Amino acid sequence: MTKDATGQNWRPKTRAVRSGTNRSQFQETSEAMFVTSGYAYESAEQAERRFKDEEAGFIYSRFGNPTVAMFEERMAALEGAPAARATATGMAAVTATMLCHLNKGDHVVSAKALFGSCRFIIDNVLPRYGIETTLVDGPDLHQWADAVRPNTKALFLETPANPTLEIIDLKAVADIAHNAGARLIVDNVFATPILQRPREFGADITVYSATKHIDGQGRCLGGVILCDEDFLTDYLHTFLRNTGPALSPFNAWVLVKALETLDLRVREHCRSAVEVADFLAKQPQIEKVVYPHREDHPQYKLAKAQMELGGNVVTFEVNGGKEAAFRFENALSLIDISNNLGDAKSLITHPATTTHSRLTPEARSELGITDSMVRLSVGLEDTRDICEDLAAAIATI
Ligand SMILES: *Cc1c(COP(=O)(O)O)cnc(C)c1O
Repeated sequence: MTKDATGQNWRPKTRAVRSGTNRSQFQETSEAMFVTSGYAYESAEQAERRFKDEEAGFIYSRFGNPTVAMFEERMAALEGAPAARATATGMAAVTATMLCHLNKGDHVVSAKALFGSCRFIIDNVLPRYGIETTLVDGPDLHQWADAVRPNTKALFLETPANPTLEIIDLKAVADIAHNAGARLIVDNVFATPILQRPREFGADITVYSATKHIDGQGRCLGGVILCDEDFLTDYLHTFLRNTGPALSPFNAWVLVKALETLDLRVREHCRSAVEVADFLAKQPQIEKVVYPHREDHPQYKLAKAQMELGGNVVTFEVNGGKEAAFRFENALSLIDISNNLGDAKSLITHPATTTHSRLTPEARSELGITDSMVRLSVGLEDTRDICEDLAAAIATI
């Protein structure tokens, strides 16, 4: 194997195309897919050296795989992070990040507004292992500061949050975490590494569901954890090897190729989302259009400071509650009803009855998730077609 330059001095767009490429003896231009579970050794002595960590090289694909390693290196380069580890799903990334370093008696502070399964980890999984958790209103910095205790080991948040698109001040929460001797973990799915790199604001660990914009074409699941070398060697490396949430080489190949177009796709998604949000805001049957880079977003200034563009998700309310929201969704013909997001295809979902249906009605209303709310992930179709589809469905409300 020959290795390309690491690209330390390349700009992000170049890194997304080039970093991590590890060519075989054939010098293929496109990254190769190494569909193998194991690796043969030249000798028993070599096997011994590999297992003793005296010689670099692959051992078993639960531990590492050349295609997976290319995806990890490219993600680390794009994010500007010292280390990356890929996982089978975004939830595997979140769960491993928590469980690899938290112990019984530790405490975690988390924002309330989270992806449904992340809320499940905080509310149900961690407490079962004796890890205490406290939920706070993410934008309220006093609540973060008041919630930390001597045994607080991690702060967790998502910004923009799903589906409310509330924004949390990364720098301020990172400072609170560090003053308490805790780590800040950020689920950066909605922003993507193109729009916001939490490390630049002091976050210690960034996690992604690569299923979303990173694949961006609805093909496969994946996740990735970005951290420093200490966290990797002290906790994550051994935990992942032995618990086994490994990404498949095929999915890693899809994802490493998808990174080559991530910048182009995300910028186009955002351009379209701005147009669609403006269109929706003009419709009398639509209330409360939420988009981070619209001036009427309650945290517009912070969103501008943290994110280069506003993302591809627009959340809004359809006049008339659940019945009207359902009628509206059912009348769409181009936009699909689907709970995924960050896809080339525009997708719409009703969070109260799908992604956030497991929360109690009180928890939903606390988060501002109403029965009228729908979340639109604006795809890469022509915005004229997207808006015509929305207009036709609005006419039925
Ligand atoms: C989808 C998503 C996840 C979970 O990712 P999977 O790949 O579906 O496991 C976690 N956090 C956020 C914000 C998400 O949107």
